[in-house]
Amino acid sequence: MVKERARILVVGGGYVGMYTALRLQRRLKRELGRGEAEITVVTPDPYMTYQPFLPEAAAGAISPRHVVVPLRRVLDRCRVVIGEATAVDHAARTATVRTPATEEEGTDGRHIEYDELVLAPGSVARTLPIPGLADHAIGFKTVEEAIGLRNHVLEQMDIASSTRDPAVRDAALTFVFVGGGYAGTEALGELEDMARYATRYYHNVRPEDMKWILVEASDRILPEVGEEMGRYTVTELRRRNIDVRLETRLESCADRVAVLSDGSRFPTRTVVWTAGVKPHPVLAATDLPLNERGRLRCTAELAVQGVPHAWAAGDAAAVPDVTAREEGRECAPNAQHALRQARVLGDNVVHSLRGEPLETYAHKYAGSVASLGLHKGVAQIYGRKLKGYPAWFMHRTYHLSRVPTFNRKARVAAEWTLAGLFKREIVSLGSLEHPRAEFELAAGGKPSHDPPHNPKESS
Ligand SMILES: Cc1cc2nc3c(=O)[nH]c(=O)nc-3n(C[C@H](O)[C@H](O)[C@H](O)COP(=O)(O)OP(=O)(O)OC[C@H]3O[C@@H](n4cnc5c(N)ncnc54)[C@H](O)[C@@H]3O)c2cc1C
Repeated sequence: MVKERARILVVGGGYVGMYTALRLQRRLKRELGRGEAEITVVTPDPYMTYQPFLPEAAAGAISPRHVVVPLRRVLDRCRVVIGEATAVDHAARTATVRTPATEEEGTDGRHIEYDELVLAPGSVARTLPIPGLADHAIGFKTVEEAIGLRNHVLEQMDIASSTRDPAVRDAALTFVFVGGGYAGTEALGELEDMARYATRYYHNVRPEDMKWILVEASDRILPEVGEEMGRYTVTELRRRNIDVRLETRLESCADRVAVLSDGSRFPTRTVVWTAGVKPHPVLAATDLPLNERGRLRCTAELAVQGVPHAWAAGDAAAVPDVTAREEGRECAPNAQHALRQARVLGDNVVHSLRGEPLETYAHKYAGSVASLGLHKGVAQIYGRKLKGYPAWFMHRTYHLSRVPTFNRKARVAAEWTLAGLFKREIVSLGSLEHPRAEFELAAGGKPSHDPPHNPKESS
């Protein structure tokens, strides 16, 4: 029984936000029914993105709408507010939230008062002040980026196929990925595989005409699957003619030329930046304690250290890894922790409301699975190492078991089954990004966007 009416505010509708809210609405069903509790979820998008499926969405193996979970449907006992928390004054138990409506009204945002705060805004790309990066590169964290990149790669192939200028063709067929973690390696592996397949429908683009380059600052890639499997991945990608450059950095991508620290230069229209993440900047606009890397200082019970009624987990939170041998080690920012932390976090909010003892979060990292294209993968789970088809199969079964809701599982499984029976989809729907362009031209107006891929820009 909750002692008094509890207003719970969840900031973020990703892994932690959605799973915590789900847990809370299940465990507080009675209290919600009696009006003794209220859960509000603030998040910029009306859906949760299952990020491990983004590389397959980019490759066209899963439709974009199947890698997202509609929050209003699954959180049917919560109030979902589409907007962004811009500041939190926890001492006053108030969050400032900017919504599409507040923007139209021209106000700074509205204030939401709460009793319990769950902060889960995740992370953003960790960028560096590299010339040209902000103007030309793209990240790989959202479904929009994944689909935009798919369309972009296919459009580059169309440009290469139709141009007579060898410099334009070369730049169009050069794809540079920076960062060899799972986001970068899987995105590159899946997109290269898709593009290689697509070349069979082009009369003048062959797989060997394309340059796929993976740039990694450290001496290994995919640390998530362990050293041996990381080495295997490098060999496997190089066997596919992918140029993996270890201990190399991107120094510039100004003027659409990628300049690497080993002195090489690649004219290119595609730079994908996946070189790590940092905690969401909104954390700095709160009165809560952050560590030196900007993550929220948390206890193993997922409470913000020394601050009552504030909770956090996932990429935004520095949660002690109580299973680690070394002192002071934090849980890594990944879905494996985020998902399990969300369950404990939801339970602990309920325990705290009921005056019960809190649970400690303890999970030993089980390893990881990664797909590198259709029927290709690499995995290390509980010390078991897998390569090629078995790893890819495990990747699919594991993520199918993890993707939230039965509805999504059924849709993804149906899509994979159908894809096994028919040819791969290789169409680019680039114009989706500028749906009004054609009408603007027809109506005699000036297009509000430049044609997205004007070959003259390229080199
Ligand atoms: C391409 C890719 C592949 C990955 N693959 C794997 C994998 O195979 N295995 C694995 O373990 N991990 C994987 N990860 C990492 C994993 O997805 C993250 O660690 C996990 O999503 C973290 O959960 P989170 O809830 O902290 O953040 P997120 O899931 O990112 O959720 C944060 C949410 O907060 C919202 N938000 C942001 N700012 C605000 C604000 N100001 N106000 C309100 N809401 C806000 C965001 O829109 C988002 O909905 C992958 C990540 C990527 C990008």
